[in-house]
Amino acid sequence: MKRIAIVGGGISGLAAAYALEQQRRAGLEAEYAVYEASSRFGGVMVTDRADGCLIEAGPDSFLTEKPWASDLCRQLGLGDQLIGSQDSQRKTYILVRGQLVEMPDGLMFMVPTKIMPTVASPLFSPATKIRMAQEWFHPPHKANGDESVAAMVERHYGPEMVDRLADPLLSGVYGGEASQLSVRAVLPRFAEMEAKYGSLGRAMLAARKKMPPKGSAKPLFTSLKDGMQQMIDALRSQLNPNALHSRISVQALLPQDGGWTVSAGLQSDQFDAVILALPTRNAATLLQMCCPELSHELGGINYSSSVTLTLGYDKAVRDSLPPGFGFLVPRSEGKRMLAATFVHNKFPHRAPEDRALIRCFLGGARDEQILALSEDQILAVVRGELQQIIHLAAEPLFTRVYKWKGAMAQYGVGHLDRLQRIEALRQKLPRLALAGNGYTGIGVPDCVRSGTEAVDQVLTSLGLRAARQRAASS
Ligand SMILES: Cc1cc2nc3c(=O)[nH]c(=O)nc-3n(C[C@H](O)[C@H](O)[C@H](O)COP(=O)(O)OP(=O)(O)OC[C@H]3O[C@@H](n4cnc5c(N)ncnc54)[C@H](O)[C@@H]3O)c2cc1C
Repeated sequence: MKRIAIVGGGISGLAAAYALEQQRRAGLEAEYAVYEASSRFGGVMVTDRADGCLIEAGPDSFLTEKPWASDLCRQLGLGDQLIGSQDSQRKTYILVRGQLVEMPDGLMFMVPTKIMPTVASPLFSPATKIRMAQEWFHPPHKANGDESVAAMVERHYGPEMVDRLADPLLSGVYGGEASQLSVRAVLPRFAEMEAKYGSLGRAMLAARKKMPPKGSAKPLFTSLKDGMQQMIDALRSQLNPNALHSRISVQALLPQDGGWTVSAGLQSDQFDAVILALPTRNAATLLQMCCPELSHELGGINYSSSVTLTLGYDKAVRDSLPPGFGFLVPRSEGKRMLAATFVHNKFPHRAPEDRALIRCFLGGARDEQILALSEDQILAVVRGELQQIIHLAAEPLFTRVYKWKGAMAQYGVGHLDRLQRIEALRQKLPRLALAGNGYTGIGVPDCVRSGTEAVDQVLTSLGLRAARQRAASS
């Protein structure tokens, strides 16, 4: 019987445990143990409730086009619980000189593909609109190496596009800055499009033509009726309860006899393989003694912190809010809020019809100091800014603040090269796999995929996958 340790009980670690559990039920001679430092499993995936509303403390949904999270939900029997964002209400505003300006129709992740709405939009200055027209004739360009998202976007559209769109959009996903994030790691399609077409506008238009007609398209975001934690609860219910160890922080790993000694508290246990499903800096700490080079590379991946604050209001406020999913705040506006979502419009199931639910997002790479503020101070900041931006002065019925320290991986320029070095160093070690949001995708679907792929890796290294494939084909 082979023994596999999974360190970290967030979605990445639980997805790995579930993949092993399925193999075990199908006859694989292996057992697993999941170690989670905190008292609950799920990591940043936490769903709360207040006054009939459902509040997401961390992720609120995932991108529908990435299939791994929805597929896992279906395997867990949650297929009928999947819900889509209400895209008929999809409208996003950008704060420009204190006013909310609607993002023009035809913008595909900051790339304009429709002329008239872009020309008519007050989002861009005349100078940027001229750059957009010139961009159409941008010659194909194959970059020698990596560069920042800001460098690429600025080359095509100028600095205003970075400030008003690239930066706010990336803040919402990565809590990061366009000037720091790697275009090859974060927007690999942009690099490919630039090499093939030159113009991002022409490339996006070509991609748009291949998309299903409007109306038949799937919703942009998928979530679960009872919130993201429904996935965590379903995973837990299908795993062996004796294999789940909470409140146990793994402190050291030591390669021994072709496997690993895992030390947690005063105890040590021997495993044939280990999956580290952790933020990379935590993985770096565990590997510091035995593999300093790998530890150094893992420790070089930065993480930013974030705060979410959800405020609940009555029907009068709901009726007074602008339609749409919410707004993004460029840094140049001098606010601490990065974005706000009108949750009752994006996912109507999350609030009764007589309630408004606004979720605000703060922090990110440029505002780690937000973590030092008390919940009351954060609330005061946000209420002040909501009053300035959407003239919302009403007293909220309830509020919830969640702080996430160092939870969002930042794929800096050169990230893909670093991943290659990490992979080369990992292969020198016995039976170790890495999963989590620090490598090839920060979103929930990519974390699920990373957990499943980590299981494939360790089973292959243990010779179990090959044996099972032979058994299945004979
Ligand atoms: C505020 C916020 C909003 C987000 N919004 C979205 C969204 O809308 N859509 C989306 O797709 N993604 C979103 N993300 C990203 C996504 O949620 C995360 O990348 C993903 O959930 C990370 O999962 P994980 O298991 O890799 O890491 P984590 O959830 O960080 O879990 C790691 C676990 O490891 C444990 N641990 C650490 N060290 C040790 C140790 N030594 N021993 C034992 N256990 C240890 C920790 O306690 C933790 O539970 C968001 C993230 C945040 C923070």
